[in-house]
Amino acid sequence: MSQVHPIRMLNPVVTDLKPVDRMLFGYVHLVGAGPGDPELITVKAMRLLQEADAIVYDRLANPVLLDYAQECCDLIYVGKQKEQHSLPQDQICELLALLARCGKNVVRLKGGDPFIFGRGGEEVDHLNNQGISCSIVPGITAAIGCAAATQIPLTHRDHAHAVSFITGHRQNGELYINWDLALQKDSTVVFYMGLSNLEEITHQLIKRGCATDKPFAVVAQGTSKDQQIVVGTIGNIAARLRTTPLPSPALLIMGDVIRANGYAQRLADLTFANYPIAAQA
Ligand code: SAH
Repeated sequence: MSQVHPIRMLNPVVTDLKPVDRMLFGYVHLVGAGPGDPELITVKAMRLLQEADAIVYDRLANPVLLDYAQECCDLIYVGKQKEQHSLPQDQICELLALLARCGKNVVRLKGGDPFIFGRGGEEVDHLNNQGISCSIVPGITAAIGCAAATQIPLTHRDHAHAVSFITGHRQNGELYINWDLALQKDSTVVFYMGLSNLEEITHQLIKRGCATDKPFAVVAQGTSKDQQIVVGTIGNIAARLRTTPLPSPALLIMGDVIRANGYAQRLADLTFANYPIAAQA
């Protein structure tokens, strides 16, 4: 067997590597951390965190999960905040490849599920192109976690026959929303990354014919102990958020399922009662 040569292993130019070199590569697991409550991680994810030589983690992955890491494990933060990336995506991809080429067993820990608006697809592509093995460990995505925590049954059969996950964030200043999909009858719509565009999203939906009394909820920091929710209609939710501004991360949920039981509204009443500005108003 050829010797491990550290310089060679770190060389990003991999086209001349022989299969035996590739055998010395480590492995990358793209792991879903779940939506916030650290107990919502899977057993498999927990085991991989315990075995990892390096954990590359995001802002939305609960940092408590890093307690599973071995003492010698490298913990590398690559979190992104709106308009402010601590490391651009292509460099994150390359960092993962580099660590694997050093022979490390890497966990790429991402909030929620790695393939739901998580750019996991780009990371897998990059690793595959470099001949680095990777696996995906699914996580509970924010929509599923927030729905459970607020008892909004996303596809309650009396109210919705489908559920859509739509990104509500801007790219190059534009909202790329499939409005027809968002306006489908008997369906629930969940907007990720839409909090800062709530005003425009609701305005556009109403302009395109959505009834102004369509139930609408905003869930912030869902599943965590700091979870907050505001419930209203598409016609008044933006105004309610002005009185009761919520922090990110937050999810927008639209559909009759919000009123399927009174639980979401009861939680919303609690959020409102605990809210300093609202209570003073
Ligand atoms: N891969 C993640 C989503 C990443 S996009 C997943 O599967 O959940 C980031 C967006 O997810 C945030 O802007 C917000 O809309 C949503 N989000 C993530 N965690 C959340 C939480 N705990 N509560 C509410 N929304 C959350």
